[in-house]
Amino acid sequence: KAAAPTNFIKQIIMEDLKSGQVQTVVTRFPPEPNGYLHIGHAKSIWLNFSLADEFGGKTNLRFDDTNPVKEDEEYVRSIQEDVKWLGFEWDGLFFASDYFDEMYERAVLLIKKGKAYVDDQTPDQIRETRGTLTEPGKESPYRNRSVEENLDLFERMRKGEFRNGERVLRAKIDMASGNINLRDPVIYRILHAAHHNTGDKWCIYPMYAYAHPLEDAIEGVTHSICTTEFEEQRPLYDWVVRECEMPQVPHQYEFGKLKLADTIMGKRYLKQLVDEKRVDGWDDPRMPTISGLRRRGYTPEAIRNFCAETGVSKSGGVIDLIFLENFVRDDLKLKAPRTMAVLQPLKVVITNYPEGQVEMLDAENNTEAPEMGIRQIPFSREIYVERDDFMEEPVKGYHRLFPGNEVRLKHAYFIKCEEVVKNEAGEVVELRCTYDPETKSGSGFTGRKVKGTIHWVEATQAVPAEFRLYEPLMAKQDEAAADDEEGEAYAAGAAGAEASFLDKLNPKSLEIVHGFVEPNMKDAKAHDKFQFFRHGYFNVDPKHTTAEKLVFNRIVSLKSSFDP
Ligand code: ATP
Ligand code: MG
Ligand code: MG
Repeated sequence: KAAAPTNFIKQIIMEDLKSGQVQTVVTRFPPEPNGYLHIGHAKSIWLNFSLADEFGGKTNLRFDDTNPVKEDEEYVRSIQEDVKWLGFEWDGLFFASDYFDEMYERAVLLIKKGKAYVDDQTPDQIRETRGTLTEPGKESPYRNRSVEENLDLFERMRKGEFRNGERVLRAKIDMASGNINLRDPVIYRILHAAHHNTGDKWCIYPMYAYAHPLEDAIEGVTHSICTTEFEEQRPLYDWVVRECEMPQVPHQYEFGKLKLADTIMGKRYLKQLVDEKRVDGWDDPRMPTISGLRRRGYTPEAIRNFCAETGVSKSGGVIDLIFLENFVRDDLKLKAPRTMAVLQPLKVVITNYPEGQVEMLDAENNTEAPEMGIRQIPFSREIYVERDDFMEEPVKGYHRLFPGNEVRLKHAYFIKCEEVVKNEAGEVVELRCTYDPETKSGSGFTGRKVKGTIHWVEATQAVPAEFRLYEPLMAKQDEAAADDEEGEAYAAGAAGAEASFLDKLNPKSLEIVHGFVEPNMKDAKAHDKFQFFRHGYFNVDPKHTTAEKLVFNRIVSLKSSFDP
């Protein structure tokens, strides 16, 4: 895998290694198992793993599972699968919940040092007395409890003597701090809930801002990389590591989140789409999840290259989908065999071709990768062409089939449209054409030229297939909206968060059509990838394909326009 192009975090690491501040680089990817990973996570995975790799360091996969309510084993499993699929191997596999004992001990240490206290105020009172940017917070009446009382109350919190929300443990820092995060943040709360890992052992759980620095310190993480929403929390991060007297000292560095235009990324929104069955699961090919991209047909190489080439900066910024698409085109260009598929078929009978005869024609598998060889495709009196490749009354500049016009059939012959057959409703159901045997592909025929080349599939051996064509799940957004944090823009609006985000769903994000592929495609397996001439890149869908039915997901269309 290519090394990361240089960026400000890499510079910091190089300086730390040079100065001897750090001997071995240790990073971590710390997902909360409350949903499936998305392309934003891929960026973080790529950054953490590639930085450590490059300097001979280590990267842990750590589940940040400190909130029992939202977490689930299914997510733990899917996250591991996705990280592996992206091509990364973790050194340690850890669960933050395995550190609950140590976190508790460190909290007791804080209390003993007079650096933490039990507060009996309600969550609302605590929020209201935090102050604002211009106004200092108000100290809790419980702030100056004795160490003994705090130790006793915290112990009783742990034993389950109190109900949810009745008490919290707060760090005792500075209620007048210019940084609101330092105004005695809550570090433990009561939550009577079973945890996927620790079961009923705990009814108090550490808050993220307290737990995360300890997790990093316990694992000997040197560079703790997160996104810029946490920048203001860095002083608290350092406070926790220092006051808890952690022997190993990690440092936090922040970079700007990856945002994709017209894409909703926050896990809670994606989960809502799944829960309300507005999509076909977390791996719906329209989802920006890793599993969705995989099912769509994206390759790990394409995603890694996308992460590497889009850079790492403090500001981030919105990236157009075109970039992501270009990386998968680039990756598949020389890898995917090029074959013909007719998505919306129209029958063509070649009236001067002998009945019952079938000939085999040579077709190159990839004109840009000749080593992929040739295949043989049947040709006979009946074929299918694309409905769009016929116009009874052609518009100006239309060079495909219309009455009296001649076109080239890719890999085969010139055919000329002689007659249009319609049903009672007046719809075109068949074309009657003639072919010219002199014009066979590869024969060197130069007698005359035609302007249009179209694709086709021989009718008697054609394999029926379903094609799923996608557009973005979200309707196009203006740039300012797309720039908003976590897709909150989608949720902003008078009608209420949920309604307005769902209002922005693109009703045309999925189109299903039925047509045919070449006979040699009958053995195609899940995740086989092809370039269908003129239609783009397709992936055999692993969920809906059966022995009887082939289903293809369009990964991305070709850049080129339809008319040659
Ligand atoms: P979401 O907001 O989508 O729910 P999250 O940040 O809550 O994501 P976590 O499981 O907490 O999800 O994230 C694991 C890691 O991935 C964190 O270090 C987080 O900073 C990083 N990450 C999440 N989203 C992005 C993104 N869009 N770009 C880069 N890194 C991201
Ligand atoms: Mg989170
Ligand atoms: Mg989040």
